[in-house]
Amino acid sequence: MKNLLLIIFITIALTSYNREDTIDYPHYDIKLTIEPEGHYIDVDCYLDIPNDTRVNTICFYLHKQLLIEELSFNDNKSFTISRDTSDIRYMPCATRYSLNTKGLKNKRVSLHLKYSGRITEWPDLSASVIGERWTEMGLYFPWYPYNPDYTLFTYEVEVLTGDEYRPFLMGSEAMDISWALYKAENPTNDIVFCTSKALKTLKKEIYQYKICLAYSTMSDTLINTLTSDLRKILSLYNKWFPPGGNTLCIVESMREKGGGYARLGGIYLPGFSETDYSESRRPYTRYLAHEISHLWWYRANSNTWEDWLNEGFAEYTALMVLRELHGHEYFDEWIERKREQSEGSDPVWQYDRNGEQAYTILYDKTPLLLFELEQRMGIDPFKQLMWDLLINNVSTTYEFKRILTDLEGKETAEWFEEMLKNY
Ligand SMILES: [Zn+2]
Repeated sequence: MKNLLLIIFITIALTSYNREDTIDYPHYDIKLTIEPEGHYIDVDCYLDIPNDTRVNTICFYLHKQLLIEELSFNDNKSFTISRDTSDIRYMPCATRYSLNTKGLKNKRVSLHLKYSGRITEWPDLSASVIGERWTEMGLYFPWYPYNPDYTLFTYEVEVLTGDEYRPFLMGSEAMDISWALYKAENPTNDIVFCTSKALKTLKKEIYQYKICLAYSTMSDTLINTLTSDLRKILSLYNKWFPPGGNTLCIVESMREKGGGYARLGGIYLPGFSETDYSESRRPYTRYLAHEISHLWWYRANSNTWEDWLNEGFAEYTALMVLRELHGHEYFDEWIERKREQSEGSDPVWQYDRNGEQAYTILYDKTPLLLFELEQRMGIDPFKQLMWDLLINNVSTTYEFKRILTDLEGKETAEWFEEMLKNY
């Protein structure tokens, strides 16, 4: 392991920065200056991390071409920092920094960094890119100090761009000619910054949900079809789920490569054309329904096997949407597909999150188990279960079992636990 030990002496005292001690989620406060055509960014970033009882080090990842000019945390005058190449598959261009924060265990940490650089290296199929035609930067780069252990966080990003470029980030927006300010007050799991000269945005309200479309080439017809499908999905969630995260953005990504992905509250879709959407409308409905349902299903720790609570319910909810909108036959086709896919895979219980079967277990087996549970309980009691899990902010299998026991009794709860362990 290549390990470079640096001693950093602090030259800046943190004087004006003083937040409440009651923050539940890590919070980023970022000033970003960007020149897309020069691939250049300059960032001033505060990261507030609530009390961390686990470790004596703080790690973060940053693109290796970004040069840190200043770094400090709390009132420390000096500390050690080590630097390694990235050990995360989807962040091959990142450097991993570890700060020794001995003595700060159980304390809130406020990290301050200034860094800048020209980002010119990324893998061919990267979903993060920077350039004159289209910029889309998220954790794949990563352009901000990212730590996958902080699964959810909030942010505030102020952007300074040339006046030709239209920036876009998830969250509330305030804008002037040369700057824009974005606040994500609902917790999310990435800070995806997009910009281009052709970018347009459209805001719609559907029920109590605020939908924002950021696009460059989408036609009015496509926007109307998409909005009408979103309305159908949200109308069901409105009935099934208690009020939850209420903002969602859908971004037409102008990349040719790298594929689509979703974040909590945001969906990023390259190659999103009218033909594509009309040819694959039902699969898109499932995809959108899955991603939108994460506005509710996100509370389990996604780095552990208990991620099944997020992904299993999101996927099963999406199948329930298909059943409502496209009928039982289409629903049954999907159930059959899930059954075939999960044939012979390991049980859900304590499965290897980094193993080869993780995808099948999460997206095929867990929705199948929930289907079996729904069969046993009945559709309406199952909807009641979803409701109870959500209003109780359930985030672990243990809590799930307790809620299921309260609703259906010990026998069903133990039967389901057995399914998780052995099916
Ligand atoms: Zn998901």
